[in-house]
Amino acid sequence: MKENKNSIAYCGLYCGECFNYKGEIADLARDLRKKLREEKISKAALGLSKFFKPLKNYDICYEVLGVMVRFRCKKTCKGGGGPPFCKIRKCCQKKGVEGCWECEEFEICKKLDFLKPIHGEAHIKNLKKLKKQGVDKFLEGKKYW
Ligand code: SF4
Ligand code: SF4
Repeated sequence: MKENKNSIAYCGLYCGECFNYKGEIADLARDLRKKLREEKISKAALGLSKFFKPLKNYDICYEVLGVMVRFRCKKTCKGGGGPPFCKIRKCCQKKGVEGCWECEEFEICKKLDFLKPIHGEAHIKNLKKLKKQGVDKFLEGKKYW
């Protein structure tokens, strides 16, 4: 994907680094499920589970792959992707800022906390870089996810 300032989300995450946007996991999961069906692995798994105990969980594995097929988001955050109720997006739009890096509060803002369980400090690191270096330099460098 071409580096693009419109792919920088309001929260500082970069949509181009998102597995939903890249879609590789969704493609691989779809293809693997197809192959498993073609080769009738559910039947084989039943027999083989005597020797390979984890195969007893084959159905769960297939179901999990089904969830991964849905790991897909074709739009960037600023292009209308992501949850429409996102408080961060709404807040930035209300303040008229391009993203939280233009806001003085991002290091203490509670609205960003819901990202922590998934992204750790990635968005904060990105926001610091965006604030310090500006958008163009940020696009050239490493982006945390
Ligand atoms: S929808 Fe919200 S959390 Fe998701 S990328 Fe956009 S600003 Fe960040
Ligand atoms: S208050 Fe500032 S840091 Fe928090 S969501 Fe709004 S713009 Fe982002």
